Amino acid sequence: MIPLPIWNPWHGCRKISAGCLNCYVYRRDESVGRDASAVVKTADFDLPIRRDRHWAYKLQPDGHTVFTCMTSDFFLEEADPWRPACWAMMRQRSDLRFAIITKRIHRFAACIPPDWGSGYPNVSIYCTVENQEMADFRLPIYLTLPIQHKHICHEPMLGPICIEPYLASGQIGFVLCGGESGPRARPCRYEWVLDTRAQCVRYKVPFHFKQTGAVFIKDGRTYRIPRQFQHSQAARAGIDYDPRPKDGAETAGPETPQQLRWPTL
Ligand code: SF4
Repeated sequence: MIPLPIWNPWHGCRKISAGCLNCYVYRRDESVGRDASAVVKTADFDLPIRRDRHWAYKLQPDGHTVFTCMTSDFFLEEADPWRPACWAMMRQRSDLRFAIITKRIHRFAACIPPDWGSGYPNVSIYCTVENQEMADFRLPIYLTLPIQHKHICHEPMLGPICIEPYLASGQIGFVLCGGESGPRARPCRYEWVLDTRAQCVRYKVPFHFKQTGAVFIKDGRTYRIPRQFQHSQAARAGIDYDPRPKDGAETAGPETPQQLRWPTL
């Protein structure tokens, strides 16, 4: 059993938008003298279908989602030859749930497998929108796509955004917010978080304040928050919102955003 469900079938990426400026993949690779722009398959490529000596899958469903491609972007052009095998593994492992977070939603339609249909029920696609420009570019595309579980990732927050027209579509399962990590992190302002939350409340879309980022501004004061406390400090704000009835009818998929075991990056 693998304790933290992260599957990185390839490693390395290319920066594509403002949210990539201080990418943690680049930051970590620089620290060990590695070139993060070199995209390579990893030794974990077949992790979901790898078996132990008893022929059981090594990755067992434990109620948690498998975060997929966290050291790259799943829809990166360089990975086009490798992606079909990954879709096949996700289809084969219908007992697992997979979460894919992307800044390349514009490539999604060209990257899905022939049997995708209205979307694999065990795959959630998170569309990252770090600022208004990216929200207005990516979300109109996102809303046209066949995806069973759609979620918006306002992270790293680089400013306030208006996403009300997209929330009004009724397609968004939940929205999460988070600041930027690392020594060069740009500040995250609490009023931005509250503003995104207020929009979610207006449209009854579940909201999760995931983490503060390294530089957090609240009530005019700037706080520098160590990585290990960024999730817990966000939780202490106590502003998560979930209007769904406890007994059922859900739009956000099988897990609530609070139940997701987010990796610390
Ligand atoms: S898309 Fe993600 S992994 Fe790729 S450079 Fe940007 S932040 Fe890094």
